[in-house]
Amino acid sequence: MTDPTAALVDVSGLETHFPIRRGFLRSVVGHVRAVDGVSFRIPRGRTLGLVGESGCGKTTVGRSILRLVEPTAGSVCFDGHDIRRESAAELRGLRRRMQIVFQDPYGSLNPRLTVRTILEEGLLIHRLGDGPGRLRRMTAALDRTGMPVAALNRYPHEFSGGQRQRIAIARALVLEPDFLVLDEPISALDVSIQAQVVNLLVELRRELGLTYLFISHDLSIVEYISDEVAVMYLGQIVEHAPAVALYAAPLHPYTHALFSAIPSVEPARRRGRILLPGDVPSPANPPRGCRFHPRCPLAETVCRTEDPPAIEIDGHRVSCHVAARALASCDPATASKQIAVALAAVGSAPG
Ligand code: SF4
Repeated sequence: MTDPTAALVDVSGLETHFPIRRGFLRSVVGHVRAVDGVSFRIPRGRTLGLVGESGCGKTTVGRSILRLVEPTAGSVCFDGHDIRRESAAELRGLRRRMQIVFQDPYGSLNPRLTVRTILEEGLLIHRLGDGPGRLRRMTAALDRTGMPVAALNRYPHEFSGGQRQRIAIARALVLEPDFLVLDEPISALDVSIQAQVVNLLVELRRELGLTYLFISHDLSIVEYISDEVAVMYLGQIVEHAPAVALYAAPLHPYTHALFSAIPSVEPARRRGRILLPGDVPSPANPPRGCRFHPRCPLAETVCRTEDPPAIEIDGHRVSCHVAARALASCDPATASKQIAVALAAVGSAPG
């Protein structure tokens, strides 16, 4: 019997490395460490937001969980099944329950196929229902996403960006999944449409009891939709906490820098902009010690040589030498303020 308190998704030590090949013989000369030791759990019916700059590995995490790219190491358990160890037949059954919505509704829907063919494809692959049964599922999925049944006989180019993303969501829902990876699902949409699609996702989660991994670089939207948030930098999670705790008291200097870039109309939430020097280092050759040290305004000698320890207080986990020292003598809210003051002292731009 399934334990209702168990996490639906349990990722442990996930690594996804891509070989770098060179020369006539295409010899492997190194690896891009896109994901390098990522762990998290998502309880049933909850949303984990995964944030970070482009190239931090967050999309690769989502794809590795679904085995759209093959993980190199670690485990990904879905409802108690380690998807890296399942047979092809068992994996097919699990795949129906784990769906993905891609960033770009223009690219993810085949323009040559009608909406009916797009929605029916998964049902045929998974042998779900006869003709009338499939039609019932497709109309129900369209209805849930606010699309008319008449859309079935039309082509993707006949719809706006927001409507196409609704069709992409309907394509996932038609298989009646438990878990959705939402990979930047609104970033290709007009700002005026983004709120509608996010509200639709919130509604669907509530009505259908869905579990989400919400991948985004938009921290305002992530705060709105997520129960917990994990911050990624160069293939690793550097901070992970309940959304309320993270937004109230970020601890990692990188999280402070990300938050400082959020525009806000509320004066109390405006922060001095923290400008990080340099670019994100190559994941093929990550820096020693703390991976953030070449850009961190608070970096110390120890940061250049030793991996920062992961400290956890009340479900708020951070990997940083300076944060660990602050947390040894005060609570997370005070530690967050101390780190913000230190960052402001070493230089920030007015918000
Ligand atoms: Fe900055 Fe050091 Fe903390 Fe890394 S461990 S984030 S370099 S202070």
